Amino acid sequence: MSLVVRARRVSLSDGERSAAVHTDGGRIVAITPFDDVPADVVTLADDEVLLPGLVDSHVHVNEPGRTEWEGFASATRAAAAGGVTTIVDMPLNSIPPTTSVEALGVKRQAAEGQVSVDVAFWGGAVPGNAGRFRPMLEAGVVGFKCFLIDSGVPEFPPLDDDGLRTALTELAAVDGLLIAHAEDADAIAAAPEPGGPSYARYLASRPCAAEESAIGRLIEAAKDTGARVHVVHLADADALPLIRAARADGVRITVETCPHYLTFAAEDVPDGATAFKCCPPIREAAHREALWRGLVDGDIDLVVSDHSPCTPELKRLDVGDFGLAWGGVASLQVGLPVVWTGARARGVGLDRVVRWMSEAPARLAGLPGKGAIAVGKDADLVAFAPEALWRVGELHHRHPVTPYAGRELGGVVRRTWLRGQESDGRPLGDLLDRGDADRPPTAGSSRERPRR
Ligand SMILES: [Zn+2]
Repeated sequence: MSLVVRARRVSLSDGERSAAVHTDGGRIVAITPFDDVPADVVTLADDEVLLPGLVDSHVHVNEPGRTEWEGFASATRAAAAGGVTTIVDMPLNSIPPTTSVEALGVKRQAAEGQVSVDVAFWGGAVPGNAGRFRPMLEAGVVGFKCFLIDSGVPEFPPLDDDGLRTALTELAAVDGLLIAHAEDADAIAAAPEPGGPSYARYLASRPCAAEESAIGRLIEAAKDTGARVHVVHLADADALPLIRAARADGVRITVETCPHYLTFAAEDVPDGATAFKCCPPIREAAHREALWRGLVDGDIDLVVSDHSPCTPELKRLDVGDFGLAWGGVASLQVGLPVVWTGARARGVGLDRVVRWMSEAPARLAGLPGKGAIAVGKDADLVAFAPEALWRVGELHHRHPVTPYAGRELGGVVRRTWLRGQESDGRPLGDLLDRGDADRPPTAGSSRERPRR
């Protein structure tokens, strides 16, 4: 089980250079000069760069319970094809939601034996379950996700300010992380109702003020409790000064944005095109450009997909009604080329993209074996051809609905290795605990597992 891959361009933490990456038992054991290799080395083509596998810390797999929306087999095949070697599954939209140790067990059982990449799990923070945080952390969740507004599914209610403080007080005691969907219900209740095919009307129904108000509440609660917090899927670039000021003030807050907020603009979303509906919404081009500046300046820490598909029926493509359609963008397989295409157009290097999509999400989720090509890390590797062009066609997602359909992108993922084994659709993935340790197979599983 030893693999050596060399390339003229290897993306390392301290820059890009010609090198050979030696692996053994699924881990990287040495990085040597290009020519210092055994006979059976894999040599990448001259137009390929060797990248660390991406870590996508924001994926809604939806299995069990809503497996018809997406499932572990299809989601992780899409991930592997897109150069993503680790996903962290969100605690909601599956049934049961991951809000207890028992529910985590149900989720693991559903995933076991059918994942093509490594999978870790967020727990859910809902009213009344703060007492379960410690056992859930001991059982392996990487942290907790909460909503500050209706989540869209009844079994995953939001936290009010008291609930938020209770959760953060509990997490501060164990240095746990709370990640939050930050939109404010009052600000949205005061906005016009969405409805019909008008994208402008939908955008007006979820104003920037809703993000800023919720982020303000999160910052106050983090400041008072000393806990670590993270804002998921920031769409409103006007909230960046708030976050910058909080950090300067010593508040432990990080923030992510998503490929769709970096790619699309409200002005260009056709009326009735509900594939673009997500919460918070895709905002105007001025926000998109300011989010890019936020990334480059270091005010935004990472880029992850928020892959959140549903059935085509629930997208209400038949009527194109933004009020009725489920909100969520499917993008797991295309995140790397999408972000790279946008980065290149703005003169931003591939090394930055790798940091935002691999190193930073691995750090967020507390997965020390992931996120870089370095001795001791897992041998999760991607052969990426940054100059090659392709058009988005059939993807491995369960459903074809995506706003990227038909779009021309730069950058092709040619090969993916997971812990030293080339990905070919087989379920090579493991279920990870916080801190990376892989789980022993659940009872009854007969799959051969590569051990580290
Ligand atoms: Zn999400």
